Amino acid sequence: MLTVTDEVKTFIKSMVYSSVVERGFLLGCRESIHVIDTVSIAPLKEADADYLIIDADLTNTIIRKWAEEDILFCGFLHSHIGGCSEFSAEDKRFADMLVSSFELPFIWFGLAVSNCGKWYLRLKKLFKRAEDYDSTQDFLIAL
Ligand SMILES: [Zn+2]
Repeated sequence: MLTVTDEVKTFIKSMVYSSVVERGFLLGCRESIHVIDTVSIAPLKEADADYLIIDADLTNTIIRKWAEEDILFCGFLHSHIGGCSEFSAEDKRFADMLVSSFELPFIWFGLAVSNCGKWYLRLKKLFKRAEDYDSTQDFLIAL
């Protein structure tokens, strides 16, 4: 089960809808790891139409600030401009790094993609390194 609050969905949609570069988002939870109710733009070092590079130091600052407010960092998603709904090899490496860096039972890892102008989230619940992306259940959430 996964719920993304309307507030989070609206924020993500507003940021990806007309963007010509990829955007990243940090996902947070207050009550349950199955309810994503907090979101922040991921600080980036660089972004283009087909890649982004996270600023790890600034990202950690946000995650620490969230922890002080009892918000648990629980996932990451980024947009793919052009509608590709598959995770790239680089995406999978980044997911592996996240799963191994945080002491969480799992993380939500996903994409914001558009299909014929309709944006949706494709989120996966990743438990461990070397996760098999193809056999892990997808949660598809319309924005
Ligand atoms: Zn990607």
